[in-house]
Amino acid sequence: MLYNPVEFFKTVPQKECAECGQMIEEQAESYLMECDHCLAKREE
Ligand SMILES: [Zn+2]
Repeated sequence: MLYNPVEFFKTVPQKECAECGQMIEEQAESYLMECDHCLAKREE
């Protein structure tokens, strides 16, 4: 079964913030389930 890793990543759905539902842009902290905004609030 052949597949192109690039195509695979293209088909990965964008993640949504588990807190507010906002789309999370790909970033270094992509393993996080929440957007920067909600994470910032958690820092308090
Ligand atoms: Zn959020």
